[in-house]
Amino acid sequence: MTDKSIKELAENVGRPVEKLLEQVRDAGLPQKTADDTLTTEQQNTLVNHLKKVHGQNEGNAGKITLKRKTTSTAKVASTSGKPKTINVEVRKKHTFTKPDTKQLAAEAAAKARTDADKLKEMVNTVKSDAKDSKPVVENKANATLEAMRAAQAQKKEQVTTSSSTAAVVVKKRNGAIVRPNTKPTVNAAEKKARQEQEAQLRATEEVVRRKAAEEAQQRTLEQMRKMASKYTNEDSKTIRVVDDAPIAAGLVGQAYEESFKKEDREIKRGGNTKDTRGQKKGRNGQEEQNFSKNHHKRGLKTSASNKHGFEKPVKKQVYDVEIGETIIVGDLAQKMAVKVREVIKMLMKMGELVSENQAIDQETASLVVEEMGHNPVLVSDTQTEDNLLEQAEQARGELTTRPPVVTIMGHVDHGKTSLLDRIRRAKVAAGEAGGITQHIGAYHVETEKGIITFLDTPGHAAFTSMRSRGAKATDIVVLVVAADDGVMPQTAEAIDHARAAGTPIIVAMNKMDKESADPDRVLNELTAKQVVPEQWGGDVAVAKVSAHTGEGIDDLLDLISIQAELMELQASAKGAAQGVVIEARVDKGRGAVTSILVQNGTLNVGDLVLAGSSYGRVRAMSDENGVRIKSAGPSIPVEILGLPEAPMAGDEVLVVNDEKKAREVADARMTRERQKRLERASAMRLENLMSSMGKKEVPTVNIVLKTDVRGSLEALQTALYDLATDEVKVRVIGSGVGAITESDVTLAESSDAVLLGFNVRADTTARQKADQDDIDIRYYSVIYQLIDDVKDAMSGKLAPEHRETILGVAQVREVFHSSKFGAAAGCMVMEGVIHRNKPIRILRDDVVIFQGELESLRRYKEVVEDVRAGMECGLAVKGYKDIKALDKIEVYDVQIIKRSL
Ligand code: GDP
Repeated sequence: MTDKSIKELAENVGRPVEKLLEQVRDAGLPQKTADDTLTTEQQNTLVNHLKKVHGQNEGNAGKITLKRKTTSTAKVASTSGKPKTINVEVRKKHTFTKPDTKQLAAEAAAKARTDADKLKEMVNTVKSDAKDSKPVVENKANATLEAMRAAQAQKKEQVTTSSSTAAVVVKKRNGAIVRPNTKPTVNAAEKKARQEQEAQLRATEEVVRRKAAEEAQQRTLEQMRKMASKYTNEDSKTIRVVDDAPIAAGLVGQAYEESFKKEDREIKRGGNTKDTRGQKKGRNGQEEQNFSKNHHKRGLKTSASNKHGFEKPVKKQVYDVEIGETIIVGDLAQKMAVKVREVIKMLMKMGELVSENQAIDQETASLVVEEMGHNPVLVSDTQTEDNLLEQAEQARGELTTRPPVVTIMGHVDHGKTSLLDRIRRAKVAAGEAGGITQHIGAYHVETEKGIITFLDTPGHAAFTSMRSRGAKATDIVVLVVAADDGVMPQTAEAIDHARAAGTPIIVAMNKMDKESADPDRVLNELTAKQVVPEQWGGDVAVAKVSAHTGEGIDDLLDLISIQAELMELQASAKGAAQGVVIEARVDKGRGAVTSILVQNGTLNVGDLVLAGSSYGRVRAMSDENGVRIKSAGPSIPVEILGLPEAPMAGDEVLVVNDEKKAREVADARMTRERQKRLERASAMRLENLMSSMGKKEVPTVNIVLKTDVRGSLEALQTALYDLATDEVKVRVIGSGVGAITESDVTLAESSDAVLLGFNVRADTTARQKADQDDIDIRYYSVIYQLIDDVKDAMSGKLAPEHRETILGVAQVREVFHSSKFGAAAGCMVMEGVIHRNKPIRILRDDVVIFQGELESLRRYKEVVEDVRAGMECGLAVKGYKDIKALDKIEVYDVQIIKRSL
């Protein structure tokens, strides 16, 4: 109620204003005119006054109805479409009621009565219900309430169900609380008993099962402890099992055993069916399982009708099982003609947890063989090979003097390459010089005192692996020491290797033409390394030479010949050839190209050659000058075609007559290699595990490396691994011989690796992919540059460096002979620009085969400075005549570039 004028009020209650003014005055209120307002309080006073005045007698006096009317306008659309404004009047009614206590009391009484009646009724219902259902139970307290609630529940239920719900009812009688004793109670008791019984059974079952599981687990744990004790030299009992892994392993073990049992059953069934049905067992396990499953049904029938169906005795075959020094579990199983799982199971019984691909030692293997009822035959791993070598030896005839095999070693930049070049140029017939194209890795020169064979290990790099290998095939080491530089780290290393291999050393003191040459200092330093020169009373011959001027070269060759004579090097040209792999690479068109140094016997085209773990017939053979030859005797390096894959440099080579033997030995070697790899892998895993424990991850430079030949690959790999420090690791995650392919790029990308090519290039698809993925491919032809770059990448600082950029590539389309230049090549420029005056390389199958410069560059008849992509040109390469169609000519430039790997 708000303040209102009398006029308003009169309007609201629907009385004349004068009348209301009168009443206002009567009520003792001060307001005089219709416009005077009455406060809420005054309005109440007025109402009370009126009530008093009229009392109950006046019909509607007890009520004052205040009408609240509001008027407003609203716009509505008329039928004609024009909006029409109408007045809206809203009236609200508000009624004041005079409180009538009597009536209230009467009403309250009536309500109470009805409530009481309801209650009574309910109680009665309950009572009658309770009576209906025999057991009537009494309740002590809250009888009414309880009864009400119960009755309500009861009522509800009654609608749908029978009176059985009465069982729930609880009633007051004698103060005792009794559960209704109804029929279902009997069932419940039974049920309870049954439940208890069941629970007990379940518990027992659980105990039994857990015990079995525990036992199985215990067995496996025991096996694991035993195995662990082997590696830790700790007593198996004291080894504590730390984490969940053994538990899991235990479960696996259990599963294994179960599957064995299943297998056993199936094998038995399957075995019988084989006889009765004349059907072969499928090699495939699934097939076999299905088969035995199917047959199981039939088998039952058969056994019912035919008593002997399952009893046909099969005599067990006893095998002589040859076991080498180690054997792979899978292979062992195969030799006994049993399933691998059988062998694993047997090994498990013996406390060995091994997998199919793991190797076990001879002793363990022979135990397994005996256990399985076969005869173990212990053989040496190299038995067959030894036999073959022996045979070859016996077939050899009279021994004659053979040429010495010489390896040149020394510190980088001391002039090894220059010296070799000098010797070759001086001694190889001029006509042949241009033909030296292949990276054969060895060549022989004829001197007045006879032939000398030089091993030219790839890159001439002073790398451990290569040097040690070189030393093995080498009779004499020529140690190159620059007269102006003296004994350097790699000089010292070379000395160590020669000593280790027991190879005599001849020192070639190079760069004698230099003014800064200081021979005495060099001799001093050599003596400090126990390489004592003859003139100082020692036994080491020293030749002072200059690769540049040619000074002393003949002396050096003389010294080599004298040393060779002293050594009385002998071999027989008769019998099966035996030798060593110097180098091997895979050539796109020709397959594996293998350089071999024949050490004994004679190698012929058509011979069956066993080299490392590959064997094949010699399809073609050429000498170091690329000249086809039919045979090669001792100390002669050759290049052969015909092996299915590239063997490793340093692998032994032997010609065999018997292909079966060749395969046997190749397989044996392959197995040995695989074994070694597996061992290495598991050792590495272990090492990783050990080193990663409690340590932060060491940053690693990942590398994908492709090289021209196996030798440089091995050398680079070793060198790269040697770079690793405690802070930074180097990992060659992918490597191989030959062009960089798409998969190399993918590998580099996915492993965040640096992609390096040594004397190889990326093929077209690889290049496209690299461009697409923004992968930087680095090309190198100097080992040390590659190593230095990686080193820098590791240390994180990459100083600006001279680096080469490829300016253009042209492909040879045809080769013709020009009287002026010899071989000239008609080319198409594929990329960039071919410059006449920049250094070039010749690539064959994306492998660098020559480096040098152009003799000439022409467009038609005209001599030009450069030719752009898409144009044809004719060119000749200085000092190289063996150019072939599809070779690529790459023109490059050396620039100073800020490096980043
Ligand atoms: P390598 O790394 O041992 O193969 O050494 P190189 O044969 O590549 O020679 C390294 C550097 O020494 C080259 O720049 C050669 O030109 C230079 N060199 C080699 N032999 C001589 C020499 O007898 N006299 C002079 N002055 N320099 C030489």
